[in-house]
Amino acid sequence: MASGAFIWHDFADFMKPSNRIRPLVQGLHAYVPGEQPKISGLIKLNTNENAYPPSPKVLRAVKAAVDGRLRLYPNPTAQRLREGLARLHRCRPENIIVGNGSDELLSMAVRAFVEPTRSGARGRCQGFTPSYSLYPVLARQHGASWSAVPLDPDFALPSPSALRTANGWRADAALTFVTTPNAPSGRGYSVSELGALCRSLQGVVILDEAYVDFASGDAMALSKRPNVLVSRTFSKGYSLCFQRVGYFVGPRELISALDKIRDSYNVNGLGQLAALATLDDLPYYRRNVRRVIGTRRRLTADLEALGFRVQPSETNFLFAKPPRHPAETWLARLRDRKILVRWFDAPATRDYLRITVGTDAEARAVVRAAAQILK
Ligand SMILES: *Cc1c(COP(=O)(O)O)cnc(C)c1O
Repeated sequence: MASGAFIWHDFADFMKPSNRIRPLVQGLHAYVPGEQPKISGLIKLNTNENAYPPSPKVLRAVKAAVDGRLRLYPNPTAQRLREGLARLHRCRPENIIVGNGSDELLSMAVRAFVEPTRSGARGRCQGFTPSYSLYPVLARQHGASWSAVPLDPDFALPSPSALRTANGWRADAALTFVTTPNAPSGRGYSVSELGALCRSLQGVVILDEAYVDFASGDAMALSKRPNVLVSRTFSKGYSLCFQRVGYFVGPRELISALDKIRDSYNVNGLGQLAALATLDDLPYYRRNVRRVIGTRRRLTADLEALGFRVQPSETNFLFAKPPRHPAETWLARLRDRKILVRWFDAPATRDYLRITVGTDAEARAVVRAAAQILK
């Protein structure tokens, strides 16, 4: 029918689905997560998942809950899990909010504490670079501004006096993100320097401790400060990426502000149950963390012997500058040998590979492949 086709063409611009999308959203770039390819025999060291499975008790608890009760809504506030976490961290359940992964809470923090405007301190999110690449995405989604101060060359935090005069840093920014230990560098920061940083800021500070279980210290003590939220997750140290459970600890006023913008049933029931069972089997996870730290030490030494420059790591990954070839070439050559690692194409990171510390067998495979690539 020729006339129908003509009319469709005529109204094409007006009909365009994209005309219905907010200009802000049209201009966004989505966060790019590490790949989850389904390649058999692949050694997957690109997204910092734990090398070891959840404890048998956790698997039993999840399996036992899969029956007709799946028709029921879960507890809306993850009450029992918050009580368990409050005992663990010696605070009150009112000091804790649980999220669908800590990523959800990071997003909620932007919406709760930052004005959706690109002008002025109240609409400003800030952090350091290189750091977790989700933070700028969350700020821009909200219509807020993002600025990042470069870490020192060895990935140390700039001193408070350097920050005072740093381009793009403001003591009155609405929200500041600090990844500690840092990703992707793996470097840890002391509680005293983090404390000084938090004291120098008037807005909310999120200390993102996603990797803290692999570190020599933590900054949970700072969650008592009026402007600090400490972010933790069950994903990395507790082998539960799939279940999506993370939490914030902090002052009850900040927590209850987040609670007001929380989705009604934000944490799925099996995730709540798995996390609660995890708290009942912490020694199992401490053993796994010790194994990962042992593998980390051996992998560091073996890669250094091959000429890699490996950053000291307080996490379950290594940030390493490979010899001879550009890091991007290494990424491809390792992939040819069915080993998947991560490479970030930015000035401060493009000379490095980020390699998740897997099992000892996986680490040996990395070293064997690297030796072959150098032959
Ligand atoms: C993995 C990671 C998270 C997110 O963890 P989820 O709880 O799985 O959402 C947050 N911050 C950093 C720095 C991470 O590496």
